[in-house]
Amino acid sequence: MRPSFHPRLTNDPFSDPGLFIPFLFEKRALLFDLGELRGLSPRDLLKVTHVFVTHTHMDHFIGFDTLLRIFLGRDKELHLFGPEGFFRHVEGKLAGYTWNLVHEYHTDLTLKVTEIHPDKALTRVYVCKDRFRSRANQVEEVFTGILLREPSFLVEAAWFDHRIPCLGFSLKENFYVNINKQGLNELGLFVGPWLTQFKKALYEERDPKSEFIFTCEKERTIIEERKFILGELAQKIATVSPGQKITYITDIAGTPKNFEKAIKLAKHSDHLFIEAAFLDCDRDAARKKFHLTAKEAGEIARLARVKHYTLFHFSPRYDHMAQDIEKEAEEAFQNRPGGKP
Ligand SMILES: [Zn+2]
Ligand SMILES: [Zn+2]
Repeated sequence: MRPSFHPRLTNDPFSDPGLFIPFLFEKRALLFDLGELRGLSPRDLLKVTHVFVTHTHMDHFIGFDTLLRIFLGRDKELHLFGPEGFFRHVEGKLAGYTWNLVHEYHTDLTLKVTEIHPDKALTRVYVCKDRFRSRANQVEEVFTGILLREPSFLVEAAWFDHRIPCLGFSLKENFYVNINKQGLNELGLFVGPWLTQFKKALYEERDPKSEFIFTCEKERTIIEERKFILGELAQKIATVSPGQKITYITDIAGTPKNFEKAIKLAKHSDHLFIEAAFLDCDRDAARKKFHLTAKEAGEIARLARVKHYTLFHFSPRYDHMAQDIEKEAEEAFQNRPGGKP
């Protein structure tokens, strides 16, 4: 089984944080945090449809300009989510440039920005042709922890204390549909764009008794059409398995409350990306800066029973000591004597 998402950090663990999550079957990606983005090619950046920002400390938000630069002049819609005060920060960035020529563009870029509050989500729209001035009406919705819900996956958020409110994110795939080639052969079907429609029908949980039409196109002309019952076709050509869960947690103080929330958000993740800014011998420094130690990161990964974890956001004071950070977290993850609390 090939996973649908292939997350990777945007930089090495000593550089700005960020997680790039491309989709396997679509030219599309999600981005958690907007630190320095030089590690991503323009081609990769253009796949991004939704950006989730934990907080607007510079190392998590300086990439906004890079992303905007790449998207400018294109017909695209970019969604950005961030914590309280996010509008002010986005608008501050946009106010930093002169937009007197953009109304002449033939294309349009739209930013849909959502500011998350504990109980509500506010959305404002900024259109390039309008010089990115916010459209007057702001949409308010109740916030229940889910930032984005699509047929095949959702993104949820949790609040953490980083001296300021800071968001953590989890991407949960509903389930994974694997296509069985032998089943296709037996029915005389072949791989094509129709499979995307077929998977979509399953993700949307359409009635299994409903009709599904297989279409084969050549040069945009339909050359073959066959009718199936969705559930029967699924039984023959698809294997459904549990989806992936990817969690991203950074810039949180090592407090009991943050621990509890982090374990809940990361519970049973296939892959947890978690900060490990300090070594545990420097716990006082970690406390003062509202960050985790490597040992705490390993403990959270263990208590959340994650399958894999990746550490990042190492303090520059540990240059050449990355192995020590990894070792400390791994001892806590394995709960070996050296790593016991
Ligand atoms: Zn921070
Ligand atoms: Zn940071």
